[in-house]
Amino acid sequence: MPETPKTIESTVWNDIKKCWESVIIPVDEYHGFTECRHCQKPISHNVKSEGKFKVVWVKCACTK
Ligand SMILES: [Zn+2]
Repeated sequence: MPETPKTIESTVWNDIKKCWESVIIPVDEYHGFTECRHCQKPISHNVKSEGKFKVVWVKCACTK
């Protein structure tokens, strides 16, 4: 069983500032991730956060 992260640093597009921002998402339950098809690093994590299921997007190795 892999260790469950307590928080995930998500990358979200801020449409007001027009830039990418890092947001710390608290993790209640961790349900795995989706790999980037190019670099095989996680590109999104499936979690339960604050009582709701959500997909948390992160930067993979392709994103600079
Ligand atoms: Zn990638």
